Amino acid sequence: VARRVLRDIMARGLAAGDMISHESAMLERYRVSRESLREGLRLLETQGLVELRRGRGGGARVGAVGAASLGRLSTMYFQLEGGTYEHLLEAWIFAEAALAEAAACNPDLKTRRAGMDPFTRSSFEADDGCRETLPADLAFHDAVAALADNPVKRLLLSSVRAIVATHLIDGRGVTAAPHDALQQHRGIARAIRAGHAARAKQLAEDHARGLAEACRTGAESRVDLPIDWL
Ligand SMILES: [Zn+2]
Repeated sequence: VARRVLRDIMARGLAAGDMISHESAMLERYRVSRESLREGLRLLETQGLVELRRGRGGGARVGAVGAASLGRLSTMYFQLEGGTYEHLLEAWIFAEAALAEAAACNPDLKTRRAGMDPFTRSSFEADDGCRETLPADLAFHDAVAALADNPVKRLLLSSVRAIVATHLIDGRGVTAAPHDALQQHRGIARAIRAGHAARAKQLAEDHARGLAEACRTGAESRVDLPIDWL
């Protein structure tokens, strides 16, 4: 049932928030017992793919899934494998470098320009020596990931950043990004725009090392701990 609902969502091109169906219509369509239908929907609800509204007029809506949901799911496996937050940070450095490389390999110059142009200009903040916050810094990395032409790479690699953001940055007193972060973004953005994959990868790796270091300092007590399944 869960697989058929997923296929239906894809076939109908439904987006987050869209109504999938009322229960009665789904019972008719899938020809399964109420119990099986509910079990299938609950399975999807656990993954965040559907939101269930109970009671009269209730039904299933498409939930918002993406890198964050995948990240959340992965933490269970990482925990079982004995992964620590230090392992996570190392994987993050790898992921950001790979995403920058993939973004630079996007064959559409127009798309690369549109995605990276906002980050290639120097800004007052940077010139004033103001430090960007780490959560704000991550917006750039989302823009880089969005340029990766391969959806599997984009989702898989972005899920690592989503875990870092949730577990090590948000609300954990990790505030300041490295002081030259905006300048580094400019360098990465220019390399991606120009399609220089090797350079984009190297610059992104160097930059991510600095970010990881900021996480280690800010979340000092956590990095040696096992990854929690949240
Ligand atoms: Zn950054």
